[in-house]
Amino acid sequence: MKDILYRITPIDPAGHLFAIELHISKPTPKGQILSLPTWIPGSYLVRDFSRHIQGLTATDGKKDLPLTKLDNHTWQIAPSTKAITVRYRVYAWDLSVRAAHLDESHGFFNGTSVFLQVHGQEEKPCYLDIQCPTIKNNWGVYTSLPEAKGERGAAKRHGFGLYKAANYDDLIDHPVEMGTPAVISFEACGALHEMVFTGLVPNMDIERIARDTAKICEYQIKLFEPKTHQAPFLDSSDRYVFMTMITGSDYGGLEHRASTALIASRGDMPVLGQNELTDGYLQFLGLISHEYFHTWNVKRIKPQVFAPYDLTKATPTPLLWIFEGFTSYYDDQVLLRTGLIDEERYLALIQKTINSVCSGPGRLKQSVADSSFDAWNKYYKQDENSLNAIVSYYTKGSLVALGLDLLIQQESGGKKSLDDFMRLLWKKFGRDFYRKSPKKGLREEQVIPLIKEATGVDATEFVTRYALGTEDVPLDKLWTTQGITVSTKTSKTASLHIKTKAVSGTTQITHIYENGSAHLGGLSAGDTLVAIDNIRVDDKNLDKLLARYRVNDKVIIHVFRRDELRQFKVKLLAEVHSFTVKRNKH
Ligand code: ZN
Repeated sequence: MKDILYRITPIDPAGHLFAIELHISKPTPKGQILSLPTWIPGSYLVRDFSRHIQGLTATDGKKDLPLTKLDNHTWQIAPSTKAITVRYRVYAWDLSVRAAHLDESHGFFNGTSVFLQVHGQEEKPCYLDIQCPTIKNNWGVYTSLPEAKGERGAAKRHGFGLYKAANYDDLIDHPVEMGTPAVISFEACGALHEMVFTGLVPNMDIERIARDTAKICEYQIKLFEPKTHQAPFLDSSDRYVFMTMITGSDYGGLEHRASTALIASRGDMPVLGQNELTDGYLQFLGLISHEYFHTWNVKRIKPQVFAPYDLTKATPTPLLWIFEGFTSYYDDQVLLRTGLIDEERYLALIQKTINSVCSGPGRLKQSVADSSFDAWNKYYKQDENSLNAIVSYYTKGSLVALGLDLLIQQESGGKKSLDDFMRLLWKKFGRDFYRKSPKKGLREEQVIPLIKEATGVDATEFVTRYALGTEDVPLDKLWTTQGITVSTKTSKTASLHIKTKAVSGTTQITHIYENGSAHLGGLSAGDTLVAIDNIRVDDKNLDKLLARYRVNDKVIIHVFRRDELRQFKVKLLAEVHSFTVKRNKH
């Protein structure tokens, strides 16, 4: 007897509609409540997925049951003692890793977009029947959700049919891809990994991607489990699935307990016969490494407020600088440690991060702990002023991790490192996360004591100044003992201190750096540059025009603001200083 059974069918690819049927054998007699999550774990923004639900109905098999809407994402079905079937459709045309997407070439969904939660029965096993009667029968199904082995109608590997989740939380944490993707599999530490690529990429070197990814996976498994080499996802699935949607120019990923959904650019995929490691492919490997590291760090080691998730509302945590920042540190570290990149390439990545963090005036106003807590209404709702107001818990968080790693290595005489802290978190919170109840997550006040427990190093001052406070991580000092120099120089180039974009033949200001030339001269984000000293600015010549000036020159700048011509006198200040990271030559 199946208490909770979902059936999903890609019913109208051209209209981008999935049809969903939900069978509830034992609805609560008082009137079953159903709801759809308002956000998807890993992406900290309330997205109101329920806006894509259409035509929700409920029946007990004989008569229709009225539904009352309790709020924008919650419904109550009229009381019934009989089994209930709920039917609805979900509009799926969001080409991202966060929602659902369907056309005649493929289907993709996250459970958070399509499966209503049955209140009071969240802990029961959920069956998922994936059906596909109307579409070409050459489609396959790719997911880390286990097949309902031994059940009638159980799916075969990569087939339509019945799958089974341990509970609702499990059900919505295994996205599903269907279609005719390019597929490759490999083993890492004896565990099965599949890579699934949707989208056309001529001559993609898929074997190279699998080879490189296997190195990353092996390394990370051994990092967390140096003795057993046990892959983390085996508590939830017999396989890990990388599902990648390839488009012209996208980039992103979302982590799950035994899979990840990625979106990447065609141009970043390696070409058969070319051995060069392009910046694009390096970025893709970094993304793979990042999302895979999340299998430990955030999918099992979690902040207390995510154990369990409350998907009805925003649930802030001050700890994303650990869950995202440390993950961002390890993603490229793992590429270095596995030899996929050399130290020079690695230091170039760090140099880029330092320059990106240090160019933002917002870093002096917001700590990474505050940035974590305010992710929901600041980091995820960025506007033209964000770089002046906030700091990224990803990029600065990764520098905090690097600094902390160097501090631990230094103070422990090279005997301990940040790895020891990660392994302690894994042991205390992660390893048994899905096997034990009640769930236990990391609390902010535990961070410093746990660093001490894992490494013997007192990180109170470090964490207070650089993670809870807004000071720049002193990598120049921390790195010297390892023979690496972080140097800084102020450029002599005159600059407007703006970011711009081309808009139909013109240059529009998108961002203004606080206390830069443009800000002090009165220019604003949104202004369209017309002329500098009466010479027209088009969509390409701004840098060339500016190159003719020296620092402290005054220029007249004309702009259109709200279609009105405005004139500003602007003193051109020096470009902000930039950082270089290099190993000392002997
Ligand atoms: Zn992440």
